[in-house]
Amino acid sequence: MASPGEDPSATVQPFTDDRLGRCLQPFMLSQAQLETVRDLMLDNMERGLRNDYQNPSSIKMLPTFVRSTLNGKERGEFIALDLGGTNFRVLYVRVSSTEKGGLEKKSKTFTLPQNVIQGTGEELFDHIVDCISDFQIANSLQGKKLPLGFTFSFPCSQTSLDQGTLITWTKGFSASGCVGEDVVRLLREATIRKGNSDLLVIALVNDTVGTMMSCGYDDPACEIGLIVGTGTNACYMEEMRNVEQVDGDEGRMCVNMEWGAFGDCGCLEEIITFIDQDVDEFSVNPGRQRYEKMISGMYLGEIVRQILIDLTYNGLFGGNISQRLQTRDIFLTEYLSLFESDTLDQVQVRSILTELGLRSTCEDAVLVKEVCRTVSQRAAQLCAAGIAAVVEKIRENRGLDHLKVTVGVDGTLYKLHPHFAGVVHRTVRMLAPLCDVTFRRTDDGSGMGAALITAVACRIAGAEPQAA
Ligand code: ADP
Ligand code: MG
Repeated sequence: MASPGEDPSATVQPFTDDRLGRCLQPFMLSQAQLETVRDLMLDNMERGLRNDYQNPSSIKMLPTFVRSTLNGKERGEFIALDLGGTNFRVLYVRVSSTEKGGLEKKSKTFTLPQNVIQGTGEELFDHIVDCISDFQIANSLQGKKLPLGFTFSFPCSQTSLDQGTLITWTKGFSASGCVGEDVVRLLREATIRKGNSDLLVIALVNDTVGTMMSCGYDDPACEIGLIVGTGTNACYMEEMRNVEQVDGDEGRMCVNMEWGAFGDCGCLEEIITFIDQDVDEFSVNPGRQRYEKMISGMYLGEIVRQILIDLTYNGLFGGNISQRLQTRDIFLTEYLSLFESDTLDQVQVRSILTELGLRSTCEDAVLVKEVCRTVSQRAAQLCAAGIAAVVEKIRENRGLDHLKVTVGVDGTLYKLHPHFAGVVHRTVRMLAPLCDVTFRRTDDGSGMGAALITAVACRIAGAEPQAA
């Protein structure tokens, strides 16, 4: 790995085999290319905020109606839901003064069967309410009317805090009858169908926004939220005068960038490889979320698998392509973490190689590691180019020579990959030298944040429901 401040494009050592170098070259981005990505992101942000119909942006820059961050006076008991990825979570959060313990939380994770996320909307929302009811019973919360914050991590067009029309599903979800509908209404209707009258839906929250808010509980400089898990997305505090989709010029509003869609208008063609093209074509949403498909957990393993096949065609790995390796999605993103770990677990690496039908020799393990490293480095650098655009935008908005800001981060890829975070930090330093950016991981940011946003909404409405 490079030492801090080094040009990340120079971090890949010369390959011992030309064939490896040739296959990996298209995945290695120069500093100039990363600067271009940063500038394109900035340009898309500006056009997205302006709602430029003539020249539409690939990113939606959605207003979230979250205007203020925490002031420490929020109190009460809340329910939060976290829907938007691998699992569905229900949380009970009690916010009290620091003397009384600050934040207290109970939570439960429920699995979301494939037939539920790809069935009908009614089935999906009925399932959600069933899970909440289970949770209420298990925690003796029945009969207690609690305000609810709903983290729903899909692009929604909001006109208020408690309303949002689903624009499109992402990340493998496809429940029918939801796109174009207000998801808060769908949730409320399911509570009525299921006879659960203890839930007051107060806020619809994107997971990036929840992460920013929950990080802000400990660090008031947190004005950016970042997710790198199944998918990737970011939000930040924008000046109201720049948010053309909402009336009013005073103060700030958090904008959900929906940055995964960056590049969907074709502006990333220069860096998209034939393998990215294939991953896109075989996904459930071809042509969409192009930036996300180069960065997030749902796709990195598959990119690696396809490079491994390419290398085999070029005579590496003994030139034999196993049946296993030809199976889509067989190479998990978890494997990248494993192969790139500094304390390589030989036994596990061998068993994965064998399972993939590769020779479990040391040389093959080194090859696979090199491929993983190239793919995860590109992902982290691209993500950093996005963050560099965001911090530069905030700095310019405020006319500052120098900006100090914190990014709250959530997502398993960012948290568990041994080098992803480090590459992001170094690359942001290189691409935004006038900004001093701190990255702070949040635990359960998306769920906790929804509770905190609900708490702020209740404070502002002057309706702290239960003193705590
Ligand atoms: P979500 O984004 O669905 O809310 P997570 O943040 O937990 O959930 O992200 C899940 C994704 O993280 C999976 O798609 C998987 O690819 C990736 N992942 C899981 N474990 C690891 C790991 N050890 N290293 C890298 N990525 C991982
Ligand atoms: Mg999540």
